[in-house]
Amino acid sequence: MSTVFDFNGASGSGWSQPDSNFQNPDAVPESLRRKRLPGWPRASEPELVRHYTLLSQKTFGIDTGFYPLGSCTMKHNPRVNERIVQLPGIDRIHPLQDSSQVQGLLAIYYEMQEMLAICSGMDAVTLQPVAGAQGEFTAIRCIQEYHRSRGDDHRDKVIVPDSAHGTNPASASMCGYQIIEIPSASDGRLDIDALRAAVGDDTAAMMITNPSTMGLFETNIAEASKIVHEAGGQMYYDGANFNAIIGKTDPGRMGFDAVHYNLHKTFSQPHGGGGPGSGPIGVKDHLSEFLPTPIASRRESQEGEPNGVGDGFYYFWQDVGDNSIGKVQQWNGNAGAVVRAWAFYRRYGRDLERMSEHAVLSSNYLRHKIMNPEPDVAAKINCMPSEGSEASLVMHEFTLSMSPVKEVNGVTGKDVAKRLLDYGYMSPTLYFPQIVPECLMIEPTETESKEVLDKFAADFHAVLSEDPEILTTAPHTTPVKRVDEVWAARNLILRHPGIEED
Ligand SMILES: *Cc1c(COP(=O)(O)O)cnc(C)c1O
Repeated sequence: MSTVFDFNGASGSGWSQPDSNFQNPDAVPESLRRKRLPGWPRASEPELVRHYTLLSQKTFGIDTGFYPLGSCTMKHNPRVNERIVQLPGIDRIHPLQDSSQVQGLLAIYYEMQEMLAICSGMDAVTLQPVAGAQGEFTAIRCIQEYHRSRGDDHRDKVIVPDSAHGTNPASASMCGYQIIEIPSASDGRLDIDALRAAVGDDTAAMMITNPSTMGLFETNIAEASKIVHEAGGQMYYDGANFNAIIGKTDPGRMGFDAVHYNLHKTFSQPHGGGGPGSGPIGVKDHLSEFLPTPIASRRESQEGEPNGVGDGFYYFWQDVGDNSIGKVQQWNGNAGAVVRAWAFYRRYGRDLERMSEHAVLSSNYLRHKIMNPEPDVAAKINCMPSEGSEASLVMHEFTLSMSPVKEVNGVTGKDVAKRLLDYGYMSPTLYFPQIVPECLMIEPTETESKEVLDKFAADFHAVLSEDPEILTTAPHTTPVKRVDEVWAARNLILRHPGIEED
C-alpha cells in the first residue's frame, strides 16, 4: 500500500501554511541551519485525505471494536464531551490570559477539584499531573515532604504488593525510595502478615490499588491502613481501578491519605497509544500544603469584578504556599482531558454508582461465560481465584491463566492474545499481573452490551478449539503480522524510510 511518501505532489499540494513572520534568518547559527530542503512529501488534498483514512483503517480503537484491555478501562467516550470541550470559551483560550477572561474554565477546574475530593473522601485536589504515573510521583513527593517537615527524613522505604502496577515502584523509586515488595496471599489478596512483617520506622508509605489488579477487593484494607499508620507511614491509593467502586465506597474511608485518579480511565477521555491523559491527585488535609501550585480557587466576587459563570463567585489561580513541591507540569495540566472528564461526571453525578455496578456486573458475567464452556474447552482455561471458591466474585476485571492450554498443546497466553486480533478484538492485557502464570487480564467496562460479551466468550472458546498452529502463527488478518519483539526492541527504527538523513 502506498504511503504519503510515495506521493510526489504531481497533482498539487494539499496544504497551506501561514506566511512566516520570522524576520531575520541570519539570526539562526550556521550550525543549526538545514543543509538541504527536508524530504517532506507533497500530496494533494485527496491524496492527503486518503493517506490519513487508510492509516485510521490500519489501527484499532474502542470506536472500532471491543477493547477488553484489563486495567486500562477502555470504555466508550461519549461524544457530548467533544462538543463541550470545543466550545470557543474553552477551545480558544490561552493559559497566559488573565483569570478574569477565563472564568468558565477556572470554574470547571474548581468544580472538578471539589467533585473528585467528594468521590474519593479526600480534602484537597490538584488537576496538574497529566498521567496516573505522574500523579503517583506527585503524591509520593508530597508524602516525602510531609515526613521531612516532621523531621522524619529517615523513612526511606515504600511498600508495594507484588500485584502492583509497575508504575507504583517506579514512581517511588524516582523519589529516591527503596521498594519493599510483599507477596500476595494464596487467594491473590494482600497478605496482611507479610505487611505486618514489612512495616517499620523506616516505612514512608504503602502504595496499593483496591480492587487489585487481580480484580479482587481487598477486604483487609482498613486493617492494612491501621498497620501502616501505626508504624508512622502514609497510605497511597492507586486510583486506576476507581471504576469498580465509585459511589459505593471511597479511599478516604479505607484509611488512605493520598490518591491519584486516572481521568482518562474512570471518567472517559480517548486514550491509548500514549495519551493525552490526566492524573490528578487528592490528599487529606495534612498533605494539602505540599500540593503542586497553583490550584483553582474562588471567592465571592467583589464590586466591578466579572462574574462569567453567574454564580456570585470570582475564580482564580491560588498559590499553594511556601511548602508546595512546586509545579509538576507546564501551565495547569491537560485542560481538554479535565473538561471532558468534568462533562462526564456532571452528566452522571450520583448515578456514577450505577456505572460501577454495571462495570462489575459485566466483568462477572463475562468471566462466568468464559469459564463455563464445553468440557473439552474447559480443560484449557483456569481463572484465579478458581470459580466456585469463596473468593470467586470479582470486581470490574478478572484474570485468566492460559497455563492449562500451554500444558495441553503448547499454546501460550500470547498466542491466544494474538489470535483474538484476527477475530476483531483488541487483545486483553497480557502477562500482567505477573503473579498469574500465562495471564490474560480482561476488563469489559460498563459500556459493552450483553451481546458483545456473549460473542466474545464464544469467540474465545472458538480460539481455544483451533489448531495450535493457527494460534502460534497469529495474527493472520492484521496489517502487521506477528512481530519479533526482541528484534524490534534491539533494532529500534524511528525514522521513516522516506525521510533522508540530515
Ligand atoms: C493505568 C494504571 C496506572 C498508570 O496510569 P497512567 O495514566 O497510564 O500513567 C497505574 N496503576 C494502574 C493499576 C493502572 O491500571
